[in-house]
Amino acid sequence: MINDLKKKTTLKGMTLDELNNYFVSIGEPAFRGGQVFNWIYNHLVTDFSDMKNLPKPLRTKLSEDTIIQTLAYVDSEISASTGTKKFILETHDLNKIESVIIPEENRTTLCISTQVGCPLDCKFCATGLMGYKKNLSAGEIFDQYMIAALNYGKENLTNIVYMGMGEPLLNYAATLNSLKIFGDELTTGISLKKITLSTAGIAPKIKELADSGLKVKLALSLHSCFEDTRSKIMPINIKYPLKQNIDAIKYYVKKTNTRITFEYVMLKDINDRQDDINAITRLCSEIPSKVNVIPFNSLKHMNPVGFSALLEPTPKHRIEDFVSKLRNRNITVNVRYTQGDDIAAACGQLAVKFN
Ligand code: SF4
Repeated sequence: MINDLKKKTTLKGMTLDELNNYFVSIGEPAFRGGQVFNWIYNHLVTDFSDMKNLPKPLRTKLSEDTIIQTLAYVDSEISASTGTKKFILETHDLNKIESVIIPEENRTTLCISTQVGCPLDCKFCATGLMGYKKNLSAGEIFDQYMIAALNYGKENLTNIVYMGMGEPLLNYAATLNSLKIFGDELTTGISLKKITLSTAGIAPKIKELADSGLKVKLALSLHSCFEDTRSKIMPINIKYPLKQNIDAIKYYVKKTNTRITFEYVMLKDINDRQDDINAITRLCSEIPSKVNVIPFNSLKHMNPVGFSALLEPTPKHRIEDFVSKLRNRNITVNVRYTQGDDIAAACGQLAVKFN
């Protein structure tokens, strides 16, 4: 991986195997890879002079030929009502991205981005409305964790969700490398069981992830069980219809023995009818799963047009009725009440104004 601006090799984002290979390629023993892996991903070191168990000439060579840090901190905002904290970060090529820390009663979750913007244009999502700029590298994905951990305390972050800007399975190689790094016991102390990857539904990549051996938790943005409605809400459903994704999810469950989360943004008169309850019930009877119901967060700050402009939140009393009917059918349902809408950090609201 070469940083175009400085023509230096970027070490952050390399897996343990890749670091081992890198050190062999420069004439060093492979175990140097493990040492540097530990410094970068466990101790969160960004300066070679801190890597005390490396010989000094090697530290000098590394500082001349390679770089560690991939993102710079730009700004942060904190929600007065919930303590949700949004970070604005910048890549070397001056693209801005966002990540969010969400404190809850029993856990603190870091929501990370995998792309600058997103190509998928889900109609309820501010990131979709801003369009797509580029994929993030595995190093840029990891640096969101590092900046949050240094700011908030590594020991205080308990969960990671790939639910920020972008579709992680459309940036598959970097996403997979970042999962391998997070999943290594030398790094975050957050096991893959505490990491959830959320996808809009890229069926072939769900199968590939199942075959990767990384048993990360998987969430599917469902939002409707009906193909025509889902295609209106999420145009990617035309390319990868729900039926194809359900087959892939069943394969994922079989391979990983994990339970799926279905994300469900409540859109008034679009996906909150009795027919929807019946369809969700059928789906959940086929797949070990739970449903996360998410009240729709306004996109007015983005001046939406077309179908997005028609979207309204289901009123709270109707959400409660919807949820209670599902629970009466023995479906596990959580309601993800809004965290951080006052700083545009809530679900579906991430979009950097000055990109
Ligand atoms: S919901 Fe996710 S996949 Fe859909 S546009 Fe937003 S960021 Fe992209």
